[in-house]
Amino acid sequence: MNNISRSIEAFSKAKELIPGGVNSPVRAFKSVGGNPLFISEAKGSKVWDIDGNCYIDFVASWGPMILGHAREEIVEAVRKAAEKGTSYGAPTLYENEMAELIISMVPSVEKVRMVNSGTEATMSALRLARAYTGRSKVIKFTGCFHGHADSFLIKAGSGVLTLGIPGSPGVTESVAKDTLTAEYNDLESVSKLFDAYGKDIAAVIVEPIPGNMGVILPKQGFLQGLRELTSKYGALLIFDEVISGFRVAPGGAQELYGIMPDLTTMGKIIGGGLPVGAYGGRKDIMDMLAPEGPVYQAGTLSGNPLAMSAGIAALKILKNEPGIYKELDRKAARMEAGLREKLAETGTKGVINRVGSMLTLFFTSASEVCSFADAMTSDTDRYARHFNKALQAGVYFAPSQFEATFISTAHTDEDIDKAVECFKN
Ligand code: PMP
Repeated sequence: MNNISRSIEAFSKAKELIPGGVNSPVRAFKSVGGNPLFISEAKGSKVWDIDGNCYIDFVASWGPMILGHAREEIVEAVRKAAEKGTSYGAPTLYENEMAELIISMVPSVEKVRMVNSGTEATMSALRLARAYTGRSKVIKFTGCFHGHADSFLIKAGSGVLTLGIPGSPGVTESVAKDTLTAEYNDLESVSKLFDAYGKDIAAVIVEPIPGNMGVILPKQGFLQGLRELTSKYGALLIFDEVISGFRVAPGGAQELYGIMPDLTTMGKIIGGGLPVGAYGGRKDIMDMLAPEGPVYQAGTLSGNPLAMSAGIAALKILKNEPGIYKELDRKAARMEAGLREKLAETGTKGVINRVGSMLTLFFTSASEVCSFADAMTSDTDRYARHFNKALQAGVYFAPSQFEATFISTAHTDEDIDKAVECFKN
């Protein structure tokens, strides 16, 4: 057993100071048991805890670290920016550069507004969609997670799912009634809602590749079907690409599958590990935002120079380095193949879903995992055993069955092989 006595002591202290001892619930290791590791340092594919143990990291700060930790170009960009002041609350050239990069990479984005988190991005995109259409309801999918704004804490994924919280106290009835839920990969369930509430539906919001009930792939025609239904009923299609954006292709899932949403929400990778979100889309919709239009949305630290510098450095590498996505895919395919062998060797029932460098191994006897219901057949105790064995072997997977494993450019083949090797029956 690794000695984690300092982490144990720190967590005990944290629980006296911070609700649950953490500033975001999934970090608490609730569903896998044990004590969360307090991290002191990270570099490349590795993180170190405060007891000095080293782990190969596949959590990747829950997605942002696609280039690995403390990548030199990013660290240097942040250092340079910090020397010139950390915030001005006035426009900067960084913001133009960031907007240009995003617009050049994400097919449907013509204008973009920077915010500080994915939650702000989805919350603001929904407000904008409501203002644009003059309608109030939104359709989301069971098990998809769009941050913690009230409208989205209905049948949500990620920590809400991991902790088994169906919705959340504090979200009022009047807000909840405007959120309709459909089933991912089931167009019929969406069509039924449009039949019943068509004139009231402002938007459909979807993770085009869900990562918050574990990774699930869109079935052929599903995203296209959403595009057609929303167009037919005059509702907006919002792709929440906070995870898939810049992860599965430079232009995210919309590039990979060739579907143009009206609005796109982004986060994680665009901040290079600093707190950033963004939402963008069609000009005519985005121009409804203040001060151009009447829809209000603002932020003291939005477009922050440090965050912009880190994000610009990250996006430039992702945009310009040839073969980067192919190499990510190759490494993730190596992990997938290795895990498939392990499942077969040990006679363990499981399903592996993967798109590019994001994947989930579901411990289930189901033949496929295409929906929330399929994901729910997973044996979460079996996942917890897998997680804890890996941790003891120095491999840090997400502390929940219902999250993704993220591969970064910093992972070596040896890292991947070690992660496969620690799979035990
Ligand atoms: N949307 C998706 C798809 C996410 O995965 C997340 C966070 N995991 C969010 C929105 C919220 O982002 P943030 O945590 O930055 O508020």
